[in-house]
Amino acid sequence: MIILKTQSEIGIMREAGLINQACHMEIKNHIHEGVSTWELDKIAEEFIMKQGGKPAFKGYHGYPATINASINEEVVHGIPNRHRKLKNGDIIGIDLGTIWKGYYADSANTWAVGEISPDADKLMRVTKECLYLGISKCMEGNRVSDISAAVQQHAESNGFSVVRDLVGHGIGRKMHEDPKVPNFVEKRRRDIDHKLKSGMVIAIEPMINMGSYSVEILEDDWTVVTTDRKPSAHYEHTVAITKDGPVILTASEGQERFDIEEFSAIIGNKR
Ligand code: MG
Ligand code: MG
Repeated sequence: MIILKTQSEIGIMREAGLINQACHMEIKNHIHEGVSTWELDKIAEEFIMKQGGKPAFKGYHGYPATINASINEEVVHGIPNRHRKLKNGDIIGIDLGTIWKGYYADSANTWAVGEISPDADKLMRVTKECLYLGISKCMEGNRVSDISAAVQQHAESNGFSVVRDLVGHGIGRKMHEDPKVPNFVEKRRRDIDHKLKSGMVIAIEPMINMGSYSVEILEDDWTVVTTDRKPSAHYEHTVAITKDGPVILTASEGQERFDIEEFSAIIGNKR
């Protein structure tokens, strides 16, 4: 069941989103060679608590940390570790969530450590573009599959593949609500291809692989890696659908209503 949110609920979720985004920026400042993912996790936890929020991932189905830190071939759900230190040339996906006044915000970024390969740079750029193309489809009357198709088309036309086993989701008083928001189009699932309505809040999160879309889970029961061990990138925003178009609840102050036409023009010019 899809739970629509009132304007005031969306306002609270925006506050949650601002804390989450500020935490991402704090982590970004500490991304450099030699830092352990455990240190990044402590920085994130302290930051969210100081703002009066609660880390959403910690304790979720027994997850032990505040952030997911997923390096290179790790797609998502990498567990922070004292012994896992960032190396020059790594790309690291940071996913984190905040609970604020009973509501959730969820967003992810992928960052470069030092000097990365041109291929990794392209993977990050295209994945981020996929996210914003998906957001540009968050218009009343569109369907979830309009988001999915925009993400899939852009990833695949750039020679990359879209992870099938994990998808975006509705979000609100729970981290994961209906509907599911896949990054690919499932032809036989028109029954779950919901129409987008004002008041829906969804987390759009393309996970894009340099090689095959196939993934597997490591023995820690959390870390999702690409089966071919090629790199993967992940970006995510929590987005509200409103009568006036999408509002990015996890964007920085003033960035919540990005200019869709301007963005489409930028992407169009790159093709
Ligand atoms: Mg997330
Ligand atoms: Mg999510």
